[in-house]
Amino acid sequence: MGRVFKLLLVFFVLILVSCTQVEDPLTGQKTLTLLPTEKEIEIGKKYIPYAINENEGLYPDKEVQEYIRRLGHNIARVAPRKVEYQFFIVNSKDVNAFALPGGPVFINRGLMLTLDNESELVGVLSHELGHINARHHARFLEKTYGLNLLLNVLAVATAESSYRNVVLQVAQVGAGLLQLKFSRDQENEADSLGVRFTYESGYDPRGIISVFNKFRSMEAKQRPPEWLLTHPLPDTRIKNVSELISTKFPNKLLLKRDSPEFVYIKQKIANTALSYDYLEKAKENIKNRDFRSAQKNLDTAISLYEENISAHTYKSFVCYQLKEYDCSYRHALNASKIDESYFLAKLLTGASLVKLNRSFEAIKQLEDAATLINSNPDLYYFLGVAYQNTGNRQKAIENFKFALSITDGNRGWESEAKERLNILSR
Ligand SMILES: [Zn+2]
Repeated sequence: MGRVFKLLLVFFVLILVSCTQVEDPLTGQKTLTLLPTEKEIEIGKKYIPYAINENEGLYPDKEVQEYIRRLGHNIARVAPRKVEYQFFIVNSKDVNAFALPGGPVFINRGLMLTLDNESELVGVLSHELGHINARHHARFLEKTYGLNLLLNVLAVATAESSYRNVVLQVAQVGAGLLQLKFSRDQENEADSLGVRFTYESGYDPRGIISVFNKFRSMEAKQRPPEWLLTHPLPDTRIKNVSELISTKFPNKLLLKRDSPEFVYIKQKIANTALSYDYLEKAKENIKNRDFRSAQKNLDTAISLYEENISAHTYKSFVCYQLKEYDCSYRHALNASKIDESYFLAKLLTGASLVKLNRSFEAIKQLEDAATLINSNPDLYYFLGVAYQNTGNRQKAIENFKFALSITDGNRGWESEAKERLNILSR
């Protein structure tokens, strides 16, 4: 779509929709807003499975998740905006943290490993809460997509013709949210809110500065943390935060820096790091299509940490590539038992069941997966095969057509799906 046309479209959407007046939780003033808070919350919730899937599943330790939830909600209590805050630790090794509109906050395992005390973690969480409180995600959504498209994404479309468009829009908004980069001004705003929330929840706000310095030294060692890709960190930012702290938030007694819980949780995560290192080796093997070595490294990963959900998922994928469908099914099932909300694990469970000719079970798993993420073309291809195997011609045709209508053309099953469609349409 041309830029001018896009601008025009945004303009039309802007005048077509009626704006709602809401109170800005930060200033208490009435402000015009396009995206109502309840819709913003709905959008954030909708994309939780996308964020989990992109980051290799939730970290499988319940105690760790419970810790971040408790800590996060303690900070959220001092945040003026009342939305549906949720806190997760995901498996990705990338040193990163991010949030979704209306409440969900994610901390990567890789970031947890680099933090040295609780006030640093509180600083990062508070910064993300700052973005949510200042409606930065909502503003991005309004500006980029307009309200009509956003409401579309939330609607459950039933008509066949519009369903394709909606699904493509869902994917588009998801990609936008997961690669969202804020402006320098927005980062400064999130920083000052972050300092405020950290301080008001009883923690030493200098934790934020020590995280920034840590990122800086990583950058100097040629391995810049992924966080910097979406949160530019110029010198002025560190300087601003330091000044803000020294002028507005004087040191006082009893500001918390650390806790025994943090030390315990950090140690738990560190204890599984070796298992995840083997997973990374396996991912390299997979890139080189050396599936046998990948299998060995994944076996080691699993033997070091039985619950390593990402290792099970990759093992399932590798076994699938080697046509060892029993193995593929077993590991995908392990992974989806550990975490019901992990799309890729469910997709692989369904795909391997298709190969094992257990089509009715496959359909159940795949339809389940579609409730988590409904914009994945592979899902509809496998559903097509499963329905064809059970003799449901109508559903098979529907799913193949749909898979072909949303694929980028490089999934590998396209010509086979067309052939199957030809046979089914005779
Ligand atoms: Zn930020």
